[in-house]
Amino acid sequence: MPRAIFRLFVAAFLSSLLALAWRSAAGPAAGGLTEIVPGVWFYQGDLGRDGFCNNVIIEMADQLIVVDANFPAGARAVLEQARRVSSKPVKIVFDTHHHGDHAYGNAVWTRMGAVTVAFQPVGEEMKRVEPGRWSDAAKTRSDLAGLGVDGPELPKRLLSGNRERLSDGKREVQFLFFGWAHTRGDGFVYLPKDKVLATGDAVVNGPYNFTGDGSITNWPRVIQKAQKLDVRHVLPGHGPPGGPEMMARQAQFFVELRAAVAKAIAAGRKLEDLVPAAAGGKPAQPAIQLSPEVQTYVSPTGLAAQVKDAYREITGNR
Ligand SMILES: [Zn+2]
Repeated sequence: MPRAIFRLFVAAFLSSLLALAWRSAAGPAAGGLTEIVPGVWFYQGDLGRDGFCNNVIIEMADQLIVVDANFPAGARAVLEQARRVSSKPVKIVFDTHHHGDHAYGNAVWTRMGAVTVAFQPVGEEMKRVEPGRWSDAAKTRSDLAGLGVDGPELPKRLLSGNRERLSDGKREVQFLFFGWAHTRGDGFVYLPKDKVLATGDAVVNGPYNFTGDGSITNWPRVIQKAQKLDVRHVLPGHGPPGGPEMMARQAQFFVELRAAVAKAIAAGRKLEDLVPAAAGGKPAQPAIQLSPEVQTYVSPTGLAAQVKDAYREITGNR
């Protein structure tokens, strides 16, 4: 997609998110933790109110590992929650991908001594889109300005392979890369003994799929690789936690979305036919039918953007 349109799209998406997130400056989210298995806690960020992603806190013998840096205000909120369950220091923070709600808090964590880690493409994507997105977000988020820097901090350690293992003898943590889904750098965090999988935004639980940096074609393939793991608890990047059925449903959503758009393209339909312009303040209702099983992923505005991205991806215009 042309750069200008892409930037417009990102700006529209972010401003709709951030318009809802203005309250973040007022203080940390009253999120609270859910203990998934002993020593593994899930923090469900309030995307609509604060713009926050979800986080996972993993207790090891002498340290805590946190999944995703969140926004700076989110990082502080998660840290406050972590302090309530453990006095161990946070030493590793893993960015599942480069988006602001998952990575803009990096500096908060490194300033307190943690090492931020991500797969190599996260660094590349950050260099590609920043500091433009940061500047846009800083217009509405005071927690970015509060850091006193002009852009996001890159993860300090970039993993070049597709699997990194870490163990304290009792608990094993794996950082896994399966390819391009939500972004080019999507990382998963897998605890094989606990059968816990943190997915970042490669799997979400609700109408939260932002496809602007995604590969709609490859996304289900990435999830299929993750489905081969032995998993009982799926901890998504947004929305409540669940089980393996979440992965199947999310993959099905993108398979159906792509198939419906490809069919329309084959029938000669134009993008304007599928996604009419918004009128009278009402969001466009895309002319795409998806099955009842995947409706949890559908919101009118989200679907309009996803149909546009799918259309452009299939026709090679992005
Ligand atoms: Zn994301």
